[in-house]
Amino acid sequence: MPTSAVLQLNASKVAFEDPSRTRPSSLPVPDPTRSFWIDSPGANPLAGEGSDGAFTADADVCVIGSGITGVSAAYHLSLAVERGDIPRLADRPLRVVILEARDFCSGATGRNGGHLTPMVFLDFCAYQSKYGTEQAIRSLGLENHNAAEMVKLIRSEGWTEAVDLVENGHTTLFFTPSEFTGAKADFAAAQKAGMILPGVRWLTKEETYAKYGSEYPSVELGGFNLWPLKFVTQMYQLAKAKADNFELILHTRTPATSISRSASPSRRWAIHTHRGVLDCSHVIHATNAYASHLLPHMAGPTGIVPTRGQVMALRASVPRDELFKCSWDGNEGFEYWFPRPAAVGDEAKSPLIILGGGREDDPDFEYYQADDSAVNPIVGRSLRRFLPGVFPGKFEKDGEPELEWTGIMAFTKLKDPFVGPVVDRSELAVGEKFKGQYISAGYSGHGMPRAFSCAAIVAGMVVADISGSRWEVPEWFPEAFLTTTSA
Ligand SMILES: Cc1cc2nc3c(=O)[nH]c(=O)nc-3n(C[C@H](O)[C@H](O)[C@H](O)COP(=O)(O)OP(=O)(O)OC[C@H]3O[C@@H](n4cnc5c(N)ncnc54)[C@H](O)[C@@H]3O)c2cc1C
Repeated sequence: MPTSAVLQLNASKVAFEDPSRTRPSSLPVPDPTRSFWIDSPGANPLAGEGSDGAFTADADVCVIGSGITGVSAAYHLSLAVERGDIPRLADRPLRVVILEARDFCSGATGRNGGHLTPMVFLDFCAYQSKYGTEQAIRSLGLENHNAAEMVKLIRSEGWTEAVDLVENGHTTLFFTPSEFTGAKADFAAAQKAGMILPGVRWLTKEETYAKYGSEYPSVELGGFNLWPLKFVTQMYQLAKAKADNFELILHTRTPATSISRSASPSRRWAIHTHRGVLDCSHVIHATNAYASHLLPHMAGPTGIVPTRGQVMALRASVPRDELFKCSWDGNEGFEYWFPRPAAVGDEAKSPLIILGGGREDDPDFEYYQADDSAVNPIVGRSLRRFLPGVFPGKFEKDGEPELEWTGIMAFTKLKDPFVGPVVDRSELAVGEKFKGQYISAGYSGHGMPRAFSCAAIVAGMVVADISGSRWEVPEWFPEAFLTTTSA
């Protein structure tokens, strides 16, 4: 087993098997590092939306968190209203309020690597041993479904340029023979299970070198990259304008500090903030790494472990036509990178690469770190050395990035999200205790190809709840991810 895998196994054991680690997450810190996606000029027009002025005191649904999950949930609710899945209220539109602790979309979605990369077949064997063959197919099928739905939305709304969608595929480099044989085994098992896997191309190390200048065997898959914050912004604006009987309100810089029973006879929950109380009937927790702040029973090894990721934007030292155009990962997925499309006026400059990873060089793998106001120098050193080592001659040794930032991921023991009604596993209480509260969180650093559709699931549950209909699991969704199953 390669060294990083052994170290990860040890760090994972400490993170996910030590029952004494049950301290709930903090709220998002108020002064995060500056990320390329959020802090590029003009990138976040909704940054401070609804942060001052009147505060909304009543809503049908309160979504906590304005990342891809929260805004996707609001978007799917708006679609349900437009379709008429929720009966029209007699005297007012259905009101959905999004509360965001910091600037709009300033959590993981505004700080990640920008990849929209379904795993296609990678990890199939691990899924099969966790959940069995049918759920393994669904777990990976969800990612293909999610990516396809996002790309369909982007194309149909004409957002391709607005969100910088790049459709050049994805390449995974295998640094060790065991990674390579593991991937081949995943491929064979997925094929045997009947998965259709078009567009997969295996390259020997000689072929990879000839094509890309890197001496590792690899596999080419479908995949995309984009500017996640811009996608979420477009989705918010679309949801807001969707239907006359749907009202969407955003309050940024307004952390939800606690939730209690509502004093209002017509509402279930009271969401407390420093600006006042919001009474509502349904709550969607889209707080990802910070979920346990409001739901302390979700802290620790059986819940959601905040885990800090680090990313940088750095220039290659060769022109654009001498560099790869797809997105990449390598070293067991620890590092991931892709070249940004040239910005207007920037065409002559060498390409800007967004590179993330390096956690494996920190003794604790950055588990239980919820502070994205700082970078980790050990991780930073590892990232600075990475690309010059993998693509000799294409990156300056010891080159300094233009920007370096952190963000907080939400890891779970099984690396899969919790989706569905909030459940307190210790009490096995699915019923009254959290009635009307839902969660979609815990994507374990792999949320872009999952969050949009997991949010659609919880939105669907809320719609069923409001309209008194029965919620059915769609054929593309793995029941194994449901809170009611995983409890
Ligand atoms: C450094 C890094 C790199 C990553 N790279 C990739 C990648 O390349 N590909 C990929 O698929 N995934 C990647 N991920 C993971 C991916 O970004 C996440 O899975 C996804 O963005 C999660 O979206 P979300 O909306 O659930 O969470 P977030 O985007 O974190 O949104 C949660 C929001 O809730 C807010 N919030 C929290 N608590 C409260 C509260 N009490 N009150 C009000 N608001 C609150 C937060 O401020 C935040 O804005 C990466 C993550 C990080 C951090």
